[in-house]
Amino acid sequence: MQATLQYAQTCDQSDTLKHFRERFFIPKVNGSEVVYLCGNSLGLQPKTVSSFIQEELDKWQNLAVLAHHEGKNPWMYYHKLFTVPLAKLTGAKESEVVCMNQLSVNLNLMLVSFYRPTAKRFKVLMQSTEFPSDYYAVQQQVKFHGYNPEEAIIEIAPRSGENAIRTEDIKKTIEQYKDELALVLFSGVNYYSGQFFDIEAISKKCCEHEIIFGLDLAHTIGNLPLKLHEWNVDFATWCSYKYLNSGPGGVSGIFVHEYHHNKELPRFAGWWGNKESVRFLMQKEFIPMQGAEGWQQSNAPIFSMAAHLASLQIFEEAGMENLRNKSIELTNFTEYILNEKLKNSIEIITPKNTAERGCQLSIRVNGNGKEMFNKLMEQNFICDWREPDIIRIAPVPLYNTFTDVWKFTEALEQIL
Ligand SMILES: *Cc1c(COP(=O)(O)O)cnc(C)c1O
Repeated sequence: MQATLQYAQTCDQSDTLKHFRERFFIPKVNGSEVVYLCGNSLGLQPKTVSSFIQEELDKWQNLAVLAHHEGKNPWMYYHKLFTVPLAKLTGAKESEVVCMNQLSVNLNLMLVSFYRPTAKRFKVLMQSTEFPSDYYAVQQQVKFHGYNPEEAIIEIAPRSGENAIRTEDIKKTIEQYKDELALVLFSGVNYYSGQFFDIEAISKKCCEHEIIFGLDLAHTIGNLPLKLHEWNVDFATWCSYKYLNSGPGGVSGIFVHEYHHNKELPRFAGWWGNKESVRFLMQKEFIPMQGAEGWQQSNAPIFSMAAHLASLQIFEEAGMENLRNKSIELTNFTEYILNEKLKNSIEIITPKNTAERGCQLSIRVNGNGKEMFNKLMEQNFICDWREPDIIRIAPVPLYNTFTDVWKFTEALEQIL
């Protein structure tokens, strides 16, 4: 690699996925495109989204209630359009995934079924810098079961002076609390550091001691290839508005491992989780659908799902493996030029090992980081600030270029 603009341009020219950028709207300020490095927060809008939503508006206009059963993609079965693409993105069997609700809601629903504390085993292992929503959910679930969150939640942090949590430390902690843990709940990728965890290794350790292992894949899905079924993860949930580019507040999804499908688990229920053949008979007995579909609550939010469908079509075309390959090159290049040009002024806290990260890099800047971040934003570099001292950038392989990250690095250099 070379830290030059020409090198970045050469990479862009030979990028076999470069045409996907044209499938997205790149925001503009005063007529010129911004450098958008915030796809880990809100992915850009695919140009096909409006026609997908318009199609559903037309059905509502022309068929109204009949559209539940008539026309293209009847609403009654709309969620099934996501089964194949979501199974591919998560490495699941088709019966193990369903598109529904929103992330924090789904996390709570999953905890209802999978956090089953007993007087002896009621603890939950989480990361020390977990996303707050996940903390709130776990704290309240713990209280709901009559336990004290301060006692029940065990946090694991990086060793002092380190930025990533070592897999050996995670395994050791599970081993240490093996008789007390009811659940290990992790983000696949930590939102702050960008660390991608060794899901397979953690899952194996949990299986050894029959501890439920759940994942929040908000920063993982569409970022890294997954094999949830093979890795024996018990449950997972995610959102679709980050790397999956499906719009603000976009619809979420869940994974429930086949292993749990025939168990009598406690769960919250709604009619959409009831057996399809009798759903409209309006009977009082709840007969959950087999597999993940049985966790559905309400009828599908069609407009949000239409946007999701438009976006997933692009993932189907591009292929997650191809995206991951470009992602590795693009992120490695970003890291390389940042270090070449700014070595003494910044520290990248994201792991160096490509197997331990997706496309996000979290940059700790010496000096007044917030002020530098504000200057970057003024110059139309859209990135993201996390207290106390981190600028997060995510060069996304679907629409970011090597030139984008070159420009970002140059701008940061000038500001510094
Ligand atoms: C983005 C994110 C959320 C957001 O939750 P919503 O219910 O979608 O608002 C939750 N958890 C993690 C780990 C996230 O990264």
